[in-house]
Amino acid sequence: MLSCKEVSLLLSRSRDQRLTWRERLGVRLHLLYCEGCRRLEKQLRFLHAAVRRFVASAGPAADARLSEDARRRIRDALPRD
Ligand SMILES: [Zn+2]
Repeated sequence: MLSCKEVSLLLSRSRDQRLTWRERLGVRLHLLYCEGCRRLEKQLRFLHAAVRRFVASAGPAADARLSEDARRRIRDALPRD
């Protein structure tokens, strides 16, 4: 069985790349009994939808408007593999 930490990492990764069937199965099983991870999945889905909406409305210039300092802070906040 996967731990909550492993599931949170997989949920986050699943937004950028396709998980293996084994990973997907592990996450699905975990979500059946873990309320906390279900909440996290919902929040991640909401955040990604919000980012997509923002990028779609701001267009390709959205990224160019971030200062170098803002980019660094975002990079620092992102989890590393
Ligand atoms: Zn959990």
